[in-house]
Amino acid sequence: MFDVLIVGLGAAGYTASIYTARYKLKTLLVGLEEGGLGITAAEVGNWPGDIEIRGPDLMEKFKKHAASFSEVTLKTARIEKIEKITGGFRAHFQSGETAEAKTVILATGSNKRHLGVPGEKEFAGKGVTYCATCDAFFYRGKTVAVVGGGDSAVEGAAIAAQVAKRVYLIHRRGDFRAEPYWVDKVKVRDNVTFVLERNVTEILGDQKVTGVKLDKPMEGQEILPVDGVFIEVGATPATELAKELGCVLDARGFLQVDAAMRTTVPGVFGAGDVTNASNHFAQFVTAAGEAGVAANSVFNHLSTGGMDGGYMSGGNGSM
Ligand code: NAP
Repeated sequence: MFDVLIVGLGAAGYTASIYTARYKLKTLLVGLEEGGLGITAAEVGNWPGDIEIRGPDLMEKFKKHAASFSEVTLKTARIEKIEKITGGFRAHFQSGETAEAKTVILATGSNKRHLGVPGEKEFAGKGVTYCATCDAFFYRGKTVAVVGGGDSAVEGAAIAAQVAKRVYLIHRRGDFRAEPYWVDKVKVRDNVTFVLERNVTEILGDQKVTGVKLDKPMEGQEILPVDGVFIEVGATPATELAKELGCVLDARGFLQVDAAMRTTVPGVFGAGDVTNASNHFAQFVTAAGEAGVAANSVFNHLSTGGMDGGYMSGGNGSM
């Protein structure tokens, strides 16, 4: 039996495993996609110690660090279900295999949100994508739309503007929630058109995307002709395993944790974008910080024989 099963191969999962390994806990680190959403960051400029680094390169460093510990077993696999058993938990993999651990850290991250407009499903992979920074380079010399007003959309527009002929940045409000750093990067590009206070109501196409329809015309045009649409309207927490385990979610559907990153189920902890910690500020630094706290709480939980007081019993896990 492992001491801890960590689910998720993003910034939170890797960091949690680095900490549990240093606590000498036998750790099983499992996830579906190495690097999680972290690999979609074209440029990370707020990870201390690296003035500027690509998301995939940063995640590779996290992975190497995690894999350097003999205490950590790394596995790329889908977990279908985690069940409570006497003395711990049993994970069921899609392959039919199982693994047991005394505790669990859920660092399952989030899934990209969809717009839910006609044409979106039909043209998924045929011009509709959910990662502007990953796919922009396929649109060299073309016209694309980026939908959203957060960091992902504005960063995506900045990256797309480096290669595309024209980028329409379509946002439902007049103000961006993205960091001013990214907004400034986009403002200086003369091939970016801001399409503000407008929504996409339909994605049009034939074999592939040919345009987007707006709810209000833009300079007399209701349809913007585009070759690709990058939908960057945020993400929803990946809570399937948490729900099955009986963990309470907050009103917005995030995994509820206390200051010690304990969930409402004894022995189950959370870290990263899936949780309601750090004021929902989903960043590499917050994911890493939460993961360190979760690992410390696992250590406290195991060293007190599960008598750490449970959810909300005190920030540092002490009784
Ligand atoms: P986000 O911050 O939640 O922003 C989502 C954007 O999509 C918002 O502007 C929102 O509009 C818009 N939106 C949501 N639903 C919509 C709908 N149905 N129709 C039209 N627009 C809709 O998501 P994100 O940009 O993916 O960022 C997620 C987290 O990752 C954030 O914490 C962010 O800071 C972080 N991130 C950081 C970096 C970086 O630092 N380099 C890069 C990427 C992401 P409203 O503004 O009107 O709500």
